[in-house]
Amino acid sequence: MRPPVILPGATLGVMGGGQLGRMFVHEAQRLGYFTAVLDPDENSPAGLVSHHHIRAAYLDAHGLDQLARLSAAITTEFENVPAEALAALARRRPVAPGAEAVAIAQDRAREKAHFTACGVPCAPHAVIETPQQLQAVAGELLPGVLKTARLGYDGKGQVRVASREQLAAAWDELKRVPCVLEKLLPLAAECSVIVARGADGQMVNLPAQLNLHRGGILAVTEVFEGAVAPAQARQAVEAARAVADGLQYTGVLCIEFFILDDGSLVVNEMAPRPHNSGHYSVDACDVSQFELQVRALAGLPLPAPRQHSPAIMLNLLGDLWFRHGEAEVTPPWAEVLALPGAHLHLYGKLSARPGRKMGHLTFTGASSAQVRELALRAAALLG
Ligand code: ADP
Ligand code: MG
Repeated sequence: MRPPVILPGATLGVMGGGQLGRMFVHEAQRLGYFTAVLDPDENSPAGLVSHHHIRAAYLDAHGLDQLARLSAAITTEFENVPAEALAALARRRPVAPGAEAVAIAQDRAREKAHFTACGVPCAPHAVIETPQQLQAVAGELLPGVLKTARLGYDGKGQVRVASREQLAAAWDELKRVPCVLEKLLPLAAECSVIVARGADGQMVNLPAQLNLHRGGILAVTEVFEGAVAPAQARQAVEAARAVADGLQYTGVLCIEFFILDDGSLVVNEMAPRPHNSGHYSVDACDVSQFELQVRALAGLPLPAPRQHSPAIMLNLLGDLWFRHGEAEVTPPWAEVLALPGAHLHLYGKLSARPGRKMGHLTFTGASSAQVRELALRAAALLG
């Protein structure tokens, strides 16, 4: 059954005040909603632009009470929000995605079990929680990548290992927390698919996105005809939809995939929220991933997004602010904005740090060749 529709004029709440929350807030406000953000940081990017900003820890009972009072429905913008907080909020208000789906996405072992249950292949792996499990690891998983089951992001909390000795040392280095050892796979490319699913099961998706990572952090996303080969794009979309249906998911979900050297597709991980690789949708699609998040939360119709322009997104990391040495310098925005089809998004973070996501640039244009040319010129300007 369709839950009641929450119409513009109501307040939508979000757990977390990072850039994803900020872009959610912008979209919600454009559609005529009021917004409430819960984030302990007084300068959080979303808190700075929201009608209400509750400065509290994610498990603070008073803060959660305030958020529930203010909001007609609540979503999340980061996957490490405590699932208990979402469960507590769900006793008072509609919460999407639900605590259970978020709890699965927070844990690499549970996530992989879910992929397998949905019939979507993932990397050969073993769960390591005890010294016995460490000893029993099959030799064919080496060389591999040891990843903490929880709290890893942007390549943090993972170590590449080539031998049993290195594996044991890596587990020590990761403080023997529960981990997953994955076989190191020969990657030809990486892609992702974003789906939005309503509480009634209606689902739409954005096109498959080609992702390039640098140092474990997303650097570039390309989305145009053929960026991901059609056969793999079709498979990725099908797999993403199966994963969302299997979770009875409500909201926006991103599923990341590896494309292997032999052309086969393997699911990597999922994020229960909009995703960095979907930022291009703000400028290149008629409905963005953030509008889909608002609509899914409010129980509004989910039209299939149409991409009206080829797109390339470049992430802007804090390193750009230090490219001439120690002192912080402003990147050459005027030159970059002189390029046609350049859409600059800065997240309002008050200080830059190397590796910190400060913003992104999306290029749209008449053809994939044109957006490539523009992205290359921007990259040269940004040095
Ligand atoms: P994070 O949560 O930090 O994004 P991922 O599991 O997505 O962690 O790993 C980050 C990157 O490391 C991936 O995008 C991929 O480039 C590389 N990687 C991760 N696992 C494997 C693997 N099993 N084989 C080859 N490369 C991998
Ligand atoms: Mg990843």
